[in-house]
Amino acid sequence: MAKKTIKINFDTGWDLAPAPESTGHIQLNEKYDLFIGGKWVKPSSGKYFATINPADEKKLAMIAEANEKDVDKAVKAARKAYDTVWSKMPAKERGKYIYRIARLIQEKAREFAVIETLDGGKPIRESRDIDIPLAAAHFFYYAGWADKLDYAFPNRKPKSLGVAGQITPWNFPLLMAAWKIAPALATGNTVVLKPAETTSLTALKLAEVIQEAGLPDGVVNIITGAGETGAAIVNHNDIDKIAFTGSTGVGKIIQNAIAGTHKKATLELGGKAANIIFEDAALDQAVEGIINGIYFNQGHVCCAGSRLFIQESVYDIVMRKLKDRMESLVVGNPLDKNTDIGAINSKEQLQVINKYLKIGQQEGAEMYQSNCTLPKKGYWCKPTLFTNVSQSNRIVQEEIFGPVLAVQTFRTVAEVIEKANNTPFGLSAGVWTDKGSKLFNMTSQLNAGIIWGNTFNKFDPTSPFGGYKESGFGREGGLHGLKDYLRF
Ligand code: NAP
Ligand code: MG
Repeated sequence: MAKKTIKINFDTGWDLAPAPESTGHIQLNEKYDLFIGGKWVKPSSGKYFATINPADEKKLAMIAEANEKDVDKAVKAARKAYDTVWSKMPAKERGKYIYRIARLIQEKAREFAVIETLDGGKPIRESRDIDIPLAAAHFFYYAGWADKLDYAFPNRKPKSLGVAGQITPWNFPLLMAAWKIAPALATGNTVVLKPAETTSLTALKLAEVIQEAGLPDGVVNIITGAGETGAAIVNHNDIDKIAFTGSTGVGKIIQNAIAGTHKKATLELGGKAANIIFEDAALDQAVEGIINGIYFNQGHVCCAGSRLFIQESVYDIVMRKLKDRMESLVVGNPLDKNTDIGAINSKEQLQVINKYLKIGQQEGAEMYQSNCTLPKKGYWCKPTLFTNVSQSNRIVQEEIFGPVLAVQTFRTVAEVIEKANNTPFGLSAGVWTDKGSKLFNMTSQLNAGIIWGNTFNKFDPTSPFGGYKESGFGREGGLHGLKDYLRF
């Protein structure tokens, strides 16, 4: 019998036929106004700015820039809606509106996913399978709590706060809006929300959903603009609570600005998570976890596993598997269903990442990047890792917010805990081991708000999310997420 030869191509990457998601089904306006008091209103300055697709640098739409006057209008609309309608409405009626929003997001999931990918550069697989379903899940989850607050907090007579000012970042645009709006509405508050200037489109589409859901005018107001618009919300006298997700730098400015006022705050800030691999871990799974931890969403994740700690005895094998896996990552068109790593969100963010790549090399670390080719137009960064780094290096201490991993080794549990806890942040961590007892020991000693065991970057509306130290305070998600919108 003739022998057959089967050739296996171990070259870089896979040659996959393009599988682009279509854009024919989405509806985008050329220009978006501000959503205030249930209506679309022109910005008082008459100014608009462009939002672009970071994968090809083409303009998608023009977005209104809200100034102090517009912020005041939005806060007044939210206050009126709070006083006259929302705070008086029976809780079970409030819940129905929130369910309606959840269902409409589900119905329009495909459109939301494509717009999220176009505006922000993230792979369609992520916006389709993670961002949009999770956003709907947050509305469903909190809708269920609206009329059960007395059970959630027995004998404590929970009351709403009033008007919440909410400011979100560009890495999970719709999901962050859902994390903020859903618990605020369930607890009877009204909202003024500002999305990040580079990714406002899905929040504006959410405004359309809110209109379609028939939410009373002014209960949710969505206004767009840059940092000054956010600052005007923070400094408005008639705001009762600030919910902010973004950088630690801006978080500090906000905390200073509201010190001594009646305003409550939750700040969800930066991170520098440790992903810790013990020698007894399932190594292939751990390597998938490392890849997911840092290259997911181009590393634009506050809880990204940006520091990797490998137990010395398995260092060589983990590094070999990791580099092999990096070579198979598909970088390119975010709309292609095969793409693993999409575009960097903006030119500015790409400059920040490139600055850190230089710093890492100047600090004496060894840089390794996968062999992929990057598209000519748009903003891109190859999956990158640094070895030969030390604890004091800036690439180990500072948040890069890009697909850049710093790799270190350890011998003992005590050593890795000391190293893992040695940054200003404390948002998340990952532990990979075969031993449950080791895992529980680690969770009690790591200073991190979220610790994943034998997995990474998993989110669920029932589970509280938030940080320690300079990663902020307050929790979003779960019962804890309700508490921060209530007084007792
Ligand atoms: P950012 O620069 O702090 O911006 C966050 C939001 O604040 C944006 O809407 C921004 O508007 C606005 N803003 C800027 N300056 C402001 C000011 N002085 N007062 C009020 N608002 C202001 O952060 P980013 O670059 O968008 O997002 C990345 C950061 O978010 C990372 O540090 C990441 O770790 C963090 N993050 C944390 C979590 C968490 O849950 N802990 C989740 C996601 C992201 P413009 O966009 O228009 O400038
Ligand atoms: Mg954009």
